[in-house]
Amino acid sequence: MLTEFSIIDKFFKNTPKNPETRLGIGDDCALLSIPQGYELAITTDTMVEAVHFFPNVNPAQLGHKLLAVNLSDLAAMGATPIAVTLALTMPHIDENWLTEFSRGFLKLAQFYNVDLIGGDTTTGPLTLTVQAIGLAPWRQSLKRSTAKTGDLIYMTGLLGEAGLGLKILQGYDCDAENALVRFHEPMPRIEIGFALREIASSCIDISDGLASDLGHILKQSGVGATLDFDKLPLSDDVKNYIESTGDVLMPIISGDDYELCFTIPPRFANRAPKNCTAIGIIESELGLRLKKSGQIEILTAKGYEHFS
Ligand code: ADP
Ligand code: MG
Repeated sequence: MLTEFSIIDKFFKNTPKNPETRLGIGDDCALLSIPQGYELAITTDTMVEAVHFFPNVNPAQLGHKLLAVNLSDLAAMGATPIAVTLALTMPHIDENWLTEFSRGFLKLAQFYNVDLIGGDTTTGPLTLTVQAIGLAPWRQSLKRSTAKTGDLIYMTGLLGEAGLGLKILQGYDCDAENALVRFHEPMPRIEIGFALREIASSCIDISDGLASDLGHILKQSGVGATLDFDKLPLSDDVKNYIESTGDVLMPIISGDDYELCFTIPPRFANRAPKNCTAIGIIESELGLRLKKSGQIEILTAKGYEHFS
């Protein structure tokens, strides 16, 4: 029978690689040092079985996604991840599950040079919590509250891929492999987030959907925006989905893409990173609008709010 300590030894051992990690797993606390000129960016996200993931999900992909969604929050602040803690609550000890889960988790951690420095292991309904810690140069983090009228709105990658992946899992018939990969194994946009610190006026990661997440920037910045539907970066699979279902808003209101949505003052537009698309503009008129086929509709986090 595996105990908490043998579980950690067997599945979660990792040698700290960052110079900031002075002490990793094994003591009452881990110890991190903060280099001069930096501040810590700290975030946490929990995933509960049947709430945030399907009970039959591939555990390696679950390990990847759990870490990815936390690292995505650091990316959205322009922070570089250095360390994470992992709190595992499991109904029973399933060695195969732990082998796969830890493989997916640690593979992504290694990719971004993130140390697993501690955690907790308890019994109960399957619940996974990560706390991620990153370094951000002093006072240079990207916030939600600092978008300005006239700024251009950009996003990384493609919109609605994960949403399409979810539709496929729910029965929509199509063989869009990329959509399933984006749903199960999103990649946090760490490098782009870091590069954005010098040019972006605000940033958020798209976890709940573009309309909802951009809405947070708008609300906290006290501004509004218009998105241009024709400029949204949609894959052929998503375009086909829209054509065959008429579900125009799916990419805008579905979550889980973990792309970055950010604003750039026009004078920095020529410095926008590659693989990013300008999708709209920040305006002084409050609210979120969508321009499509010459018409302007008002958008809410859940969809259209037609003019009355
Ligand atoms: P304590 O009783 O002081 O909370 P624990 O017995 O819970 O310590 O944990 C022992 C060590 O193992 C600690 O360093 C803790 O951070 C680490 N740890 C526990 N669970 C995990 C986990 N799931 N992943 C990584 N480290 C863990
Ligand atoms: Mg403990």
